[in-house]
Amino acid sequence: MPNKIKKIGVLTSGGDSPGMNAAIRSVVRTCAYHNIECVGIYRGYEGLIEGDFKSMDARSVKGIINKGGTILKSARSKEFRTKEGRQQAFNKLVEAGIEGLVVVGGDGSFTGAMILNKEFDFPVMGIPGTIDNDIVGTTHTLGFDTALNTVVDAIDKIRDTASSHNRLFFIEVMGRDVGHIALNTGIAGGAEEILIPEEDLGLDRLVESLKRSRKSGKTSSIVIVAEGDKIGKNIFELKDYVDENMEGYDVRVSVLGHMQRGGSPSCFDRVLASRMGVKAVESLLEGKSNFMVGLQNNNMELTPLDNAIKGKTKINLELLRVSDIMST
Ligand code: ATP
Repeated sequence: MPNKIKKIGVLTSGGDSPGMNAAIRSVVRTCAYHNIECVGIYRGYEGLIEGDFKSMDARSVKGIINKGGTILKSARSKEFRTKEGRQQAFNKLVEAGIEGLVVVGGDGSFTGAMILNKEFDFPVMGIPGTIDNDIVGTTHTLGFDTALNTVVDAIDKIRDTASSHNRLFFIEVMGRDVGHIALNTGIAGGAEEILIPEEDLGLDRLVESLKRSRKSGKTSSIVIVAEGDKIGKNIFELKDYVDENMEGYDVRVSVLGHMQRGGSPSCFDRVLASRMGVKAVESLLEGKSNFMVGLQNNNMELTPLDNAIKGKTKINLELLRVSDIMST
C-alpha cells in the first residue's frame, strides 16, 4: 500500500461509548504494525486546539481493551465550531507533524471532521462511537451492543422486584431520536410495551394494552420508554396518567440514565473496535479520506462522512412486529 503518511492522530469526541478504548488500542497498534507514529489527542477537538498530545506506542495501550470510557477523555468544543478554532487545530496538527486524523465519535464529531477536511484538505477518517446506533453506513455503532447488554441486565433485575410486588414499571432508556436501544432491549427483556420515537402508540392504546395483559393473567408488567418517545408525556407524567387510569397496579419508574454508556465493552464491541481501527488506519495509508468505517454484511466498508451523518437509521419493522407478537 502507498504509505506517504508517517504520523496519525487519534481522538475521541462527543458522548463516550464502551469500546472507544478498544478502538484507540487498535489504531495505535495498527500504526505500530505499519511502522508509523501515532499520537493520542486528549479531550477531543478541545485538546486538538490546545495541542494536548501524547505519543503512543503499542505497549502504551496495554490493559485497556476491557475498559469502558476513553483513556483519551472526550469533550465538546465550542471553539472548534469557529473558523479560528479550526485554524488553530490545523496549526497544531502541522506543528506536530500529524498527517492524518482518526475521529472516534458521533455525527457531530464527524461534521467537525468533514469541515476540517474541507477547509484544510486534511485527511480524516471516522469511527462511529455512540451507543445510539444512529449512524448510517454501519449496522452497529461502537458501544451499541454493550449498552444493549447493560440495559437487558437492568431490566432482568427490575423484573425480579416487579414480579415480587405485582408492579408495573416504566423503564426509560437512551434514544432521543431513534428507538434501537428500546426496541431491542424491550424484546430481549420481555417488555409488555415499547415506546419509541418512530411510533406514537397513543395513551389510550397503551392503557388498553396494559389492561389486556392484566386480564390475561400477568401480574407484573414492564414498559420500555425511549427518551424521545412520541407519546407526549415524560416518563413521570406517564406514570401519573396510568396510575389515574388503571387500577390494581403499583406503578413505578426507573430511569437508567448514564449507566448505559459505561461498563466493560462486550466481546462484540471489542472485536468491532479492533476491526474498525485497522480499517481506519489502513484506509488513511491507502490515501483515502473523509470516510467513516462501518460494518455491513459482516464486512468493513467505507461510507462518505456526509452520507453517514445524513438522515436517521431506520427502525427494523420486523422487530416491531416480533415485539407485538411477543407481548400477546
Ligand atoms: P453524540 O452522538 O454522543 O452526541 P457527537 O459526536 O454527535 O456524539 P456532538 O456534541 O454533537 O457529539 O459533537 C462533538 C463535537 O464535534 C462538538 O463539541 C464540536 O466540537 C464538534 N462539532 C459538532 N458539530 C460541528 C460543526 N457543525 N462544526 C464544527 N464542529 C462541530
